[in-house]
Parts: sequence; C-alpha cells; structure tokens
Amino acid sequence: EGGAAAAGHGGRRRHVLLFPLPYQGHINPMLRLAGVLRARGFAVTVFHTHFNAPDAARHPEHRFVAVPDGMSGRPPPVSVGDVVKHIRALNAACEAAFRDRLAAVLAEYSRDAVACLVADAHLLRMLDMPVSELPPYRVRDLMHIGRDGHELMCELLARAVAAVKLSSGLILNTFDALEAHELAKLRRDLAVPVFDIGPLHRFSPAADGSLLHQDRSCLAWLDAQTAESVLYVSFGSLASMGARELVETAWGIAGSGVPFLWVVRPGLVRGRRAAPGEPTRLLPEGFEAATRRRGVVVAWAPQEEVLRHRAVGGFWTHNGWNSTTESLAEGVPMLCRPSFGDQMGNARYVEHVWKAGFEVVGGELERGAVEEAIRRLMAESDGGEMRARARELKKAAAEGKNDKT
Ligand code: UDP
Repeated sequence: EGGAAAAGHGGRRRHVLLFPLPYQGHINPMLRLAGVLRARGFAVTVFHTHFNAPDAARHPEHRFVAVPDGMSGRPPPVSVGDVVKHIRALNAACEAAFRDRLAAVLAEYSRDAVACLVADAHLLRMLDMPVSELPPYRVRDLMHIGRDGHELMCELLARAVAAVKLSSGLILNTFDALEAHELAKLRRDLAVPVFDIGPLHRFSPAADGSLLHQDRSCLAWLDAQTAESVLYVSFGSLASMGARELVETAWGIAGSGVPFLWVVRPGLVRGRRAAPGEPTRLLPEGFEAATRRRGVVVAWAPQEEVLRHRAVGGFWTHNGWNSTTESLAEGVPMLCRPSFGDQMGNARYVEHVWKAGFEVVGGELERGAVEEAIRRLMAESDGGEMRARARELKKAAAEGKNDKT
C-alpha cells in the first residue's frame, strides 16, 4: 500500500530504517522486506553489526550504516545455547552504539521523513519487557531452559501447580518480611492454609544433609580476618561456568584487592574436572601466588557458618533459593550472578524488592566488571546501604522465627 505513506512532504521518498539480527536466517528476510519497501516507494536504511555484515555492494539501492559491536575475536556460535549467549552479548555490546548511530541518522532527515524503525525483536530488549502480572520480573527472569526443554519445563510446572491444588496445605521456605504480598496473594488464591516457616535453615543446619564434605578449615582462616572484610563466593551445587569465565572471575576477584573465600567445587567448570581435594587445580596459573595471603579456595564450605561469620561482608552467589535466604537471614548483602531456573527471579528480588544486593553484569563475565562490582559491594557507600537492608531482614527473620517457635 505504498504510495501516499511512502511519499513525505514535497513528494520525497520517506525512509524506513531496518535493523536485522546478524544471522543468515534473519538477514535474508529483512533484506527481502527492504526490497518490498523499496518497491513500494520507500528509501531504506539498513543498520548492521560488523559481525556478519551484509554485503552493501550487492544492494546499492539501500543505505547501509555500520554499528560497532565489539564482537571481534569472539568465536561465532556453534550450538543453540551459544546462540542465546551470543544474542545477549550482541545486545549488550551494540546497544549504546546503535542509539548513537540512530540519533545521527535521524538528525540527518527532516521531521516526518522517517516512517518507522523495523528491528528484529531480538534486538529490541524484548526480554527486558516487564511481566505485568509478576513485578518486578522481566520476561527474561521467567524460568526457561532453552527451546528444547521448554515443553518439559511447562509440564513440570503444571504438575507442581496441580499438586499444590490437590494438597491440604502449603509449607513455604520463606518469611513475611521477604514476601508479604506474595504470601497474601497465595492465601487469597488458595483454599488451603499456607505456612511461611522459613528461613528453614535456622531450624537445622545444612551440614545434616550435605552431599559433599564441608571443608571446615576455612573457618579458622575467617577467624583471623577483620569484621565484614571477606567476600564469600559460591555458585551452589549445580551452576557451572565456562573455562574463560572462570579465568575472568578469578582475575576479577584478584584485581579487586578484597579478601575472599571461594568455593570451587569439582564440577564448577564445564568440561574440566578436579578431585574434591584439589579445587585450586581448576584455577588459572599464577592466581594462587597472586592471592596467597588474601584468599582461600575450598571445594565445598560450611556455608551457613561462613555466612554467619563476622568476617564475611558480602556473598557473590548464583541466587539459588537456599543461598539467597541463608544470606538474608544472616544479614549478608549479595552480588548476584543467576544462571537458570528460579535464580533469575530471585536475583531480581534481591536487587529490586529487598535492595540487598545487585546483579553483577549481563552477558559473559569480564574481569574489569567483576572487580568493579566487588568493590561496589564491599567498599562503596551503596554496598553499605545494601548491607544495612540485609541486616534489617536478618532482624525481621529472627523476630518472625521467634513468633513461630
Ligand atoms: N552449600 C554448602 N556449601 C557450599 C555451597 C553451598 O553447604 O560450599 C549449601 C548451601 O548452604 C545451600 C545449598 O548448598 O543450602 C545450595 O542450595 P541453593 O538453593 O542455594 O542452590 P543449588 O545448589 O540448588 O543451585
């Protein structure tokens, strides 16, 4: 239906701006759409990343604008999981540059000369869209395990919901100060009694159920550290990271200058294993020497005692629900690095509801960002405010527990 819509003031062609996702299967339809629009009388400007840049010489009828993406040197994705990470990294890397280029192009054209921007949905931060039924979740905080696992995940969740509906009561490992609204909603929606008896670890220690040997030698080391000086780092029993991320994590921790206790469990690094007795074998060369007097690495820690220890001032966590509630119940603020399942939503609550921590960085870890985040939590004033919030929640947890026992 080109015609009038395609002609601006003075009969000049109006512009449509296109920004395809830089993969073949997305570039092709976008360029075809460009052809259709051109045939209908529009002038077309195609924004593109350096990664997989289309060949502008083959389309002299369109204008091409390059958006720097900082992706050179990064290997192209080879698996579905890689693609998801790659899209995320692309978004993070080219967002600012795209805004810049877009502003420059818009400034060149007169006010009504640009009809619209057509961008691939993957480039429009769709995953950042708020979920209006469940604030403060964004779409990307919802549980997902990739396309292959989607149906299975839906089935598991549907089963859990059905089981809840069939039961005569619900026992939840949470407490009122954490989830007052959520508990009130559950009580409204369910006909059965709902008991919020958490944090459960206050009733019995995890050591009772620990599947791995907890290395208690780190407690004596903590005794020798000053109050609230130590960052405790642990990503729980399942979350894993790539070898490159481990290296960035290690050098970020080292570069922060902050004392640390780091749990490097045998399966933490994908594709590499170490016996439980030798967690440091997974660390990059030179790391131990660089941090000898400032940090301790164990394969598995007595986490609750660690979090309760006066020397611990922050927890870098994957935000498993247990780790999250254990940390809050001990008044320890968090650096959040969620990886799957409910962890993204938990991290979102830590940062935006309880204000007792913040998410490290999106995309792949990089040592500079790690250093900066650690310093912010451990040494800067907003980290101090998060610590104060965590302490308030600790107090509320203790008071709530007294009410219930
Ligand atoms: N844990 C521990 N030692 C460690 C790390 C974790 O005892 O070095 C315990 C922690 O206290 C928590 C559990 O393991 O109770 C991990 O549960 P969470 O829900 O945090 O994460 P998941 O392992 O299920 O991802």
